[in-house]
Amino acid sequence: MTNIGKALATRLAAHAVVAAPELVSEHVSADDTRKWVLRLADGNAIETVFIPETDRNTLCISSQVGCALDCAFCATAKQGFNRNLTAAEIVGQVWFAEHRLRAAAARPERVISNIVFMGMGEPLLNLKEVGPAIHVLLDDLGYGLSRRRVTVSTAGVVPAIDRLQEVAPVSLAVSLHAPDDALRDSLVPLNKKYPIATLLEACRRYVAQDSRRRITFEYAMLAGVNDSPAQARALARLLKTVPAKVNLIPFNPFPGAAFARSADGAISAFRDVLLQAGLVTVTRRTRGDSIQAACGQLAGVVKERPRRVVPIHAS
Ligand code: SAH
Repeated sequence: MTNIGKALATRLAAHAVVAAPELVSEHVSADDTRKWVLRLADGNAIETVFIPETDRNTLCISSQVGCALDCAFCATAKQGFNRNLTAAEIVGQVWFAEHRLRAAAARPERVISNIVFMGMGEPLLNLKEVGPAIHVLLDDLGYGLSRRRVTVSTAGVVPAIDRLQEVAPVSLAVSLHAPDDALRDSLVPLNKKYPIATLLEACRRYVAQDSRRRITFEYAMLAGVNDSPAQARALARLLKTVPAKVNLIPFNPFPGAAFARSADGAISAFRDVLLQAGLVTVTRRTRGDSIQAACGQLAGVVKERPRRVVPIHAS
């Protein structure tokens, strides 16, 4: 057993197991992004994505089977919500990926350096399980990651943003996608409950205690919907009041999607407006879209299968 495995087993032995998932399929894209479809003990399937980069190796994990938020441009939304993952199933994805990658690389060192809750589901609607899972990821006797290397992404569940700050103040990403409430209401229905001003207040509270911290705002670039220079200026005005950086995500298509990706020129013009306004802005490279592993393309399938839970120390 590896050191990580031993440490996790020690930490978890008294009260929990890592629910090791069963591999259904592995897809490797030309850029080496890997997507695993993993079957849980109850037959549900989730997806986990590994994104190797030169300076980091990021694992994108799921927090729910499906999602209840119904964002207009997201494939996961189309499958509806099935259930929350348990903390053991969340940690199980990291456990599975780390073991598989080490076996493939035939080397003992740690492979995964960063973890993002940007897979299927809304992590802040499952904080009861996501919180303990994060604790295992951060614990010296668990996975030992720094809290800056773990990112929770949310569509904006305001009360849970405050709770996350108390429970596990990891890096926070917010899926904004629009500079005004009318448009955001139509793209992210949760906005009707927690509109932009309320959401940005929660973001300010989240980073208030640490002047070096910034919120990452994700913005999917949807052709003709949210990608005009005027909308870029509105976004820049909005984010002046928050310690922010912006990730522009070229829209990733999926079967039946009602949106198209913004043209490259529109994306760079949008980015330039934000840069000129002094906002750190990165256009996320499209990774893994050929294997349906990119942001918003994850849609695990639901199947009935016999129960199988493997305690971590059993492998
Ligand atoms: N529910 C959380 C976690 C999902 S993270 C959240 O909303 O933040 C996945 C990220 O990809 C989110 O920013 C989401 O809005 C974005 N996304 C969803 N569908 C997409 C698509 N088709 N193309 C590009 N980005 C998409």
